[in-house]
Amino acid sequence: MSTKTDINERDQLMRQRSNLLDDIELLKETLRGEVDVDIDEGDPDVVEREKSAVLLSALEARLASVEDALRAIDRGTYGTCERCGKPIPPERLEVRPDATMCVTCQTEFERLLKRGMTPPRPRWGYELDAEVEEE
Ligand SMILES: [Zn+2]
Repeated sequence: MSTKTDINERDQLMRQRSNLLDDIELLKETLRGEVDVDIDEGDPDVVEREKSAVLLSALEARLASVEDALRAIDRGTYGTCERCGKPIPPERLEVRPDATMCVTCQTEFERLLKRGMTPPRPRWGYELDAEVEEE
């Protein structure tokens, strides 16, 4: 596995992470600020605030995913599906540098989520550590 690529991915992910943290902080401030709006006025911003809350949880999910990918880089397992252990195609990593699952597993994961099940961010029985070989 190319170390150079990993470093580039790491930079890219670190940038994404800091952008996400900025956005999350900004949104949280917005949400906090809007809470002070006089509710008796029939708060016209309530829809906006709900939208912000949805966006916030999406950003936080994205952040968790980016941090997972960073941990995977540190472990040397980046580019390997954390669920089935197969390599994640580079085309997919180009589009989603924070992907830690192959398309098949990601699809299954999202299907479970939609059915109201909340699979933990998977380490689903696949022993990542066993795959890491110290150089
Ligand atoms: Zn997989």
